[in-house]
Amino acid sequence: MRSQRRDFRCRLTILCCATGGKMSEVQLHSEITCPHCGHKKTETMPTDACQWFYECERCHSLLEPRPGDCCVFCSYGSVPCPPVQLESGCCG
Ligand SMILES: [Zn+2]
Repeated sequence: MRSQRRDFRCRLTILCCATGGKMSEVQLHSEITCPHCGHKKTETMPTDACQWFYECERCHSLLEPRPGDCCVFCSYGSVPCPPVQLESGCCG
């Protein structure tokens, strides 16, 4: 079995304003581009957690966020993750 470190703690507080109606403006689908083989796949982003790891289905590379990014969608996706989309004016 894979024994990667599993630290999924997210630095962002998510869903704090989910009931404010802004979630409806958030895009939950992001096209991840593998930096190793260029494979693209549209994934649905979780709204209750940040996804730190993503395995490319083609080359099976395990992608991790770039330094300063909170999740793989921010680093490799076409759309940043929901908490980043909500960041402006959301939680201060
Ligand atoms: Zn790949």
